[in-house]
Amino acid sequence: MKGIKLFAASFFAAAFLSFTPENKKLIVIDAGHGGTDMGSTREGVYEKDIVLRIGKEIQKFNSTQNTYEVILTRDYDTESPLSDRTTLINKLNPEMVISLHMNSSPHKESERSGQEIFTQNTDASRKLAEKISQKFNPSFIAGEKNLHILRESKAPTVLVELGFMNSTKDREYLTSEKGRQEIARKFTEIFKEY
Ligand SMILES: [Zn+2]
Repeated sequence: MKGIKLFAASFFAAAFLSFTPENKKLIVIDAGHGGTDMGSTREGVYEKDIVLRIGKEIQKFNSTQNTYEVILTRDYDTESPLSDRTTLINKLNPEMVISLHMNSSPHKESERSGQEIFTQNTDASRKLAEKISQKFNPSFIAGEKNLHILRESKAPTVLVELGFMNSTKDREYLTSEKGRQEIARKFTEIFKEY
């Protein structure tokens, strides 16, 4: 099964690359979790769904320009092993990778809200985190973390916790159309400025 999935991933990458104009740069958005891996859950809302819908919104916002192509590591609710994701990323060799997740804290209602960004131990990753942090308020760069996607991805990569699942304010914002569109617009600006 795993072999088939890996083959499918590399076939996708090869097929994709053969149709991509050479001057178009690639940006990978990784929507965390998927399938039976829900991520964190609160009030019937799943992390896997929030990050997928925002990932798709970012892709949609960027579909009409010629500078870069936004690729999702998953574009529907499916189980996607971390090793398949980084295999695909390293084949695509993108300009940057943004892995989307949701935070949670031990409290019933989080006292904190906003973004938290984790980086690789590289200047390119830290620069990307800085750019993202400038667009979002409140946001906090938590620094390097030993996570699969940050460790194994060769491209500049950051993991962005978009908000707290157990912050009513964050959860409502991130599940609203307004919130999704604002976030997609901010990421579009970040891609242009990076
Ligand atoms: Zn997560």
